Amino acid sequence: MAPKRRVVDRRDDAVPAEGLRLWAPWRYAYLRSLVSAPRACIFCIGKMSPAGMRRHLVLFENRDVVVMLNKYPYSSGHILVAPRSHVASPELLTRPDRAVLADAVAASIKVMRAALKPQGFNVGTNIGSAAGAGIAEHIHWHIVPRWSGDNNFMSVLASTRVVSQSLEDSYDQLRPIFKNLGAEIS
Ligand SMILES: [Zn+2]
Repeated sequence: MAPKRRVVDRRDDAVPAEGLRLWAPWRYAYLRSLVSAPRACIFCIGKMSPAGMRRHLVLFENRDVVVMLNKYPYSSGHILVAPRSHVASPELLTRPDRAVLADAVAASIKVMRAALKPQGFNVGTNIGSAAGAGIAEHIHWHIVPRWSGDNNFMSVLASTRVVSQSLEDSYDQLRPIFKNLGAEIS
């Protein structure tokens, strides 16, 4: 039998481990549903109509990358940038794929900085479900625009969140600025 894993956090032993996940502790119900009901990869999409893109929150797609709003956002404008290649970890990407993905992350930050005027960004990736990846089999970067006072680390510890804008509103605001992302990354 495997030994029981202990989760130790020296900052505050009273905080439940699930409150310490970096990105989104409120996604646990969603993560569990993925385990019990595997489904098609959300990043492996074909050609979509504008209505289909809106329904699936896809802001931009081309031959190399897909950019979409996170359905379970950390804050308004929380997007996901994924390569077309269905691989679980960056070292499995080809070098051209890595380059185009890095460009797409940078271009997404550029257009969101201009349009949303955030004061900062959190950018990162969770690799493997143990690290909190909701879709562990297809690597993706999170880009979270931040404003002073929008959320803070305490809200993460307390497993609460404040997202003041609906996903549909976010989509309608962001889609026009992502429409021409291809020009930034070509
Ligand atoms: Zn995929």
